Amino acid sequence: MNVIDSKRIWLSSPHMGGTEQNFVREAFETNWVAPLGPNVNGFESDLETYLENDSNVAALSSGTGALHLALILLGVTNGDEVLCQSMTFAASANPIVYLGAKPVFVDSERDTWNICPEQLEIAIKDKIAKGKKPKAIITVHLYGMPYQVEAIHKIASAYKIPVVEDSAEALGSSYHGVKCGTFGDVAILSFNGNKIITTSGGGALVSRNVKHKEKAIFLATQARDNAPHYEHSEIGYNYRMSNITAGIGRGQMEVLDSHVAKRRRNFDFYKKHLEFSSEIKFLEEPEGFYSNRWLSCVETTSYKLREGIRSALAEENIESRPLWKPMHQQAVFSDCDAYLNGISDDLFDRGLCLPSGSNLEEDDLYRVVSVIKNVLR
Ligand SMILES: *Cc1c(COP(=O)(O)O)cnc(C)c1O
Repeated sequence: MNVIDSKRIWLSSPHMGGTEQNFVREAFETNWVAPLGPNVNGFESDLETYLENDSNVAALSSGTGALHLALILLGVTNGDEVLCQSMTFAASANPIVYLGAKPVFVDSERDTWNICPEQLEIAIKDKIAKGKKPKAIITVHLYGMPYQVEAIHKIASAYKIPVVEDSAEALGSSYHGVKCGTFGDVAILSFNGNKIITTSGGGALVSRNVKHKEKAIFLATQARDNAPHYEHSEIGYNYRMSNITAGIGRGQMEVLDSHVAKRRRNFDFYKKHLEFSSEIKFLEEPEGFYSNRWLSCVETTSYKLREGIRSALAEENIESRPLWKPMHQQAVFSDCDAYLNGISDDLFDRGLCLPSGSNLEEDDLYRVVSVIKNVLR
């Protein structure tokens, strides 16, 4: 096929449901064109209802901003150390550095590709022995697959270290029936353009503690004290979500469940058509784990095969991407400590994310599968 006349297939592109523009139009008609308004409150309340478990949600301008505020709420400050899953997107770790604190990376385990309970405990014990107890733990449900929630939170509470649950990729996932985004002392969501629902850009902070929501909104709106003039006793941020983008979010909430169903269908399609090959392995859900399958990812048997598939797809105008490069391998974090077992390095070498949008047609999926089959043959 010729690149010029074949439609581009994206890894994960925005997918509007249809009612988003009604909420946006209403915002214009009522002149709520500001970082507050009925759509912001409505979107927060939609998310609170969806997540259940007494969730309190603060809608913000990005998931990264939400992580920054989450760390502030947990008291992370200059000179602290924060444990962070190494296999993640850089936005999980960057806010640690914004605060003058230091990331300490922890490797993954095989069953979920997320933070390894054994390595986590080794890291905590070692840091405590060295007189530097970690201030927080950042866990990630990468590609929508829940991490080992029970094991990780058991360790965190045994050592009394709070958890920031990065659920940016996992809205719609659950662990033993409980929604991801409700496990951490503070959790965060992202509504960036490539996520399972999008507001074009945006994020949210989630907590069972309503004080965390209130404090997050206070900090996100320039930390203005209660006074008729502008009065400040703390450093603030401009991180609140706008009423326009929240309108997009309200429309997207109506199609979240169908987006999850479609992404799971993508995964099932790939598995059905490719599992004949012993050179391709799929990440299965352990018992009780429910992934939104934000991205369908596979392990190949070698770096060479992974790159062969990736470049064959690229030649057919199909976007794919190696699994996220672990943070301990990134130049910008080369001076950070890391507790490693080799698993995330290995996954990065051999793993590939396939086109996964909820707007993919069956024809698109057949196109992807036929290119991969040709390489395997
Ligand atoms: C997208 C993402 C973020 C950042 O969210 P933004 O809304 O893009 O700032 C953080 N962590 C993970 C794992 C992500 O995938």
